[in-house]
Amino acid sequence: MPRPVSGAPDVSHARSGAPSTPVGSEPSLVLGIESSCDEMAAAVVESVAAQPARILASVVHGQASVHAPYGGVVPELASRDHLGAVSRVVQEALDRAGVGLDALSGVAATAGPGLMGSLLVGLSFAKALAYRAGVPWVAVHHLAGHLAAAELIDAKLVAPYLGLVVSGGHTALYRIEADAPHLLGETRDDAVGEAFDKVAKLLGLPFPGGPALSRCAEAGSETAVAFPRPLAGAPGYDFSYSGLKTAVLLEVERRRAGGPLGESDRADVAASFQAAATDVLIRRTRRAARDEGLSRVAVVGGVAANGRLRTELEAAAEQDGFALTLPPLELCTDNAAMIAAAGARRLARGEVSGLEFTAFSRMPLAGSSFDASAGPDA
Ligand code: ADP
Ligand code: MG
Repeated sequence: MPRPVSGAPDVSHARSGAPSTPVGSEPSLVLGIESSCDEMAAAVVESVAAQPARILASVVHGQASVHAPYGGVVPELASRDHLGAVSRVVQEALDRAGVGLDALSGVAATAGPGLMGSLLVGLSFAKALAYRAGVPWVAVHHLAGHLAAAELIDAKLVAPYLGLVVSGGHTALYRIEADAPHLLGETRDDAVGEAFDKVAKLLGLPFPGGPALSRCAEAGSETAVAFPRPLAGAPGYDFSYSGLKTAVLLEVERRRAGGPLGESDRADVAASFQAAATDVLIRRTRRAARDEGLSRVAVVGGVAANGRLRTELEAAAEQDGFALTLPPLELCTDNAAMIAAAGARRLARGEVSGLEFTAFSRMPLAGSSFDASAGPDA
């Protein structure tokens, strides 16, 4: 069953209260579709000109049960599940928003980066739907979508600001300018979410690993194991997680030598790993904000849902005096409201994609056009 993350009546972060349609402006209704990995999501947002959008409906159909037996996302199974879900998830989003196809002003879909087979399902459906409705469609870069989630909930978040993207596939710091994002640093190996997932698997925790590890860590001590803080003293803003992952593996092997891993072993290793993994993000973010002279910071992507990261970032923001934007949990992990919001902004600027435009599995965000990036048609 589709798992609704928010609906029109109870979206606390929606800009309710304020009139959504200023006199003389036509609101636009954009349907967004996200299918870059193992979530099929659809959402409808309403926006006026290039203003931040209001979420009318957001539906996410996860696939955890499909991939759990394998301990990780199986691409072929992901695209097959997307095929079975896309029509129903899109219909549910339209129904919840109380919007028919005729009312749509445009359709936006994630074009990449991500799993090719998964991307193609959402993208092809979006194009066909836009064609049928006689409205434009626009491609959205997945990371531009994640950043749009922060802009969606915080009207004060305007460029220039510092954007930290932390997810299962990405760990990168950007200086976001009005015209483009500039990459300050990124991971040299694993993404932080990938490290959470791999360490969770090592500890025998259920899939998906990130949230399970974070829950397990609650009972442990952060100082039980002094895991390395990779690249801590290095100049620049790059990240590295493979050495930390190996350090966890060695620690687990050491503890297993004396018998099976107990609950307290597991909790201590989880808490100590989580502290090391998030400390690095926080330190780099603080330094980048200071060096770049930026007083606004947004942290987005699935790992931005991590409780320790959120708490420590909030404390850092207070201490350093920067304004911090953290999307609510359901807008951190993959969702389509962020894609619809990023797409609405592109469409408001008159940017549309051609029907021949197709998905891409890899594409840096910086260096492409900010909102979607999609190269040839952007
Ligand atoms: P993608 O990587 O496909 O863009 P998301 O943006 O949804 O996907 O991020 C998923 C990642 O976020 C996964 O690696 C997952 O383990 C991680 N994650 C989700 N919640 C938490 C959490 N509470 N703590 C740590 N990591 C988390
Ligand atoms: Mg994502």
